[in-house]
Amino acid sequence: MIEWIITMEALFCPMEFSYFTRKRDLEKLNGSFFDVVIVGGGIAGAGIASLLSSNKVKVLLVDKGDFASGTSSNSSKLIHGGLRYLAQGHLLLTRELLKERNYLVRNVDIVQPMKFDILIDVDSWGKKTLYMGLLLYNILGGKFRLPNFIKGKYSYDGYSGHFTYEDAATDDALLVVYNVATFVKLGGTAINYLEATRIKDTEKGVEITLKDKFDMGEYSVSGKIVLNATGPWVNEIYGSYTSERINNLQLTRGAHIIVRKDKLSLDNAVVFRSHLDGRQMFVIPRGEVVLIGTTDDFTERPDSLTVKNEEREYILNSARKIFPSLTSEDVVGEYVGIRPLYGKGSDPGRVTRDFYVDVTGRMVTVMGVKITNYRNAARKIARRLGRILNVDLKVDGLPLILYKREGDEIDSALRNECALTVDDVLKRRVGHFYFKTDQGRSTVEGIKKRIEDYFKTDVK
Ligand SMILES: Cc1cc2nc3c(=O)[nH]c(=O)nc-3n(C[C@H](O)[C@H](O)[C@H](O)COP(=O)(O)OP(=O)(O)OC[C@H]3O[C@@H](n4cnc5c(N)ncnc54)[C@H](O)[C@@H]3O)c2cc1C
Repeated sequence: MIEWIITMEALFCPMEFSYFTRKRDLEKLNGSFFDVVIVGGGIAGAGIASLLSSNKVKVLLVDKGDFASGTSSNSSKLIHGGLRYLAQGHLLLTRELLKERNYLVRNVDIVQPMKFDILIDVDSWGKKTLYMGLLLYNILGGKFRLPNFIKGKYSYDGYSGHFTYEDAATDDALLVVYNVATFVKLGGTAINYLEATRIKDTEKGVEITLKDKFDMGEYSVSGKIVLNATGPWVNEIYGSYTSERINNLQLTRGAHIIVRKDKLSLDNAVVFRSHLDGRQMFVIPRGEVVLIGTTDDFTERPDSLTVKNEEREYILNSARKIFPSLTSEDVVGEYVGIRPLYGKGSDPGRVTRDFYVDVTGRMVTVMGVKITNYRNAARKIARRLGRILNVDLKVDGLPLILYKREGDEIDSALRNECALTVDDVLKRRVGHFYFKTDQGRSTVEGIKKRIEDYFKTDVK
């Protein structure tokens, strides 16, 4: 019932969410009071924001960059249960992720099923173990399907053959943007390029100082609660409020290279273990390219987003065992994301991929929300927030995505998805940076012109 009411309301509500509405929102921001101020517009912040606004909670969502400009645009872009988590014994987590995968494939048009060939490595992944693991994976995912063994499709002689299984893929950044647009459609206020710089307790709640990254203007808002959903940056915000750090936050770097698709001619994605260190790697055909990754190394620096030579070499050398003709000339792009994980341990691959919530004073901090798991995380976090706010929040079946593009994608990006720069459009609205061989270079001038025409002002 609640889903039906929300859907009807959203369908009949026209929405502009753009440079112009941003300006208008900023003009009336100073001194405003919100139930919840969410700092961080990645998948964690966007998912919870849309769920809360479905419940008529008054929410402000801010991001210091564009929405999804942190880890949520730099993932492997898979919606999956995580065979690796199953292998590590995280049965409940895998089941939960597979349930979410099934929901997203059924209900969200930018989440599509994808077939994976998983190579059987004679040294480590035994054929029988993998067979049983995949069977269990299929059952946890709601289907009794026997894995089918196939020999000879891939060249490297360290692998005896492969099984095929199904998971899903998405455009991670767009999934965030659709959630933010839904949130706005439901009455929420979302402002990108607005950084939270100071957070302090007041008599009525918390006061948050915000800085506009374009004109450096400062704003002050208050809230009953602040939700710290800043991903790899959670300790910066946590520290500014408490002068302490969350000790178990661990950051790991994950790099991908982007290579020409014509070089590999793949029908399915490929999963294999690197002969260099046994790590699980993905080779994922997307649009005109193939994404290959990833690495997993501890880091202290959330802002260090340049792929290192050794990361590029590691990925290339690992992939060459299966695709021997691959050379560095075939690499057309690369990117790195920082995983905000909560847990202990000296092996980055074994730190849990489940999320964690901390409540300190009036700050609720969330860490480790996966793209796949964002709805589930949003519901659990909303229950915590509901108890603190003393309101009965409806969470079943939420959050929904109630935004759909109509017509031209660049027009939609500018008018309804608050893209402000060429980078916003190329990386987080139309995906050319990740899915085209030229990473969108040929369209830069055209997009600049469209932005100029729309803003009637200079492009940032
Ligand atoms: C290499 C890699 C591969 C992955 N692959 C997958 C996958 O295939 N499937 C999957 O489900 N998950 C995957 N993940 C995990 C997933 O991408 C992350 O867990 C998720 O994106 C984290 O989202 P978040 O919202 O917590 O953080 P982020 O997306 O980083 O969002 C935090 C936001 O907070 C903003 N912010 C920071 N400080 C401030 C401030 N002071 N004021 C305002 N805003 C601020 C940032 O700009 C940022 O946009 C992968 C992760 C990595 C690194």
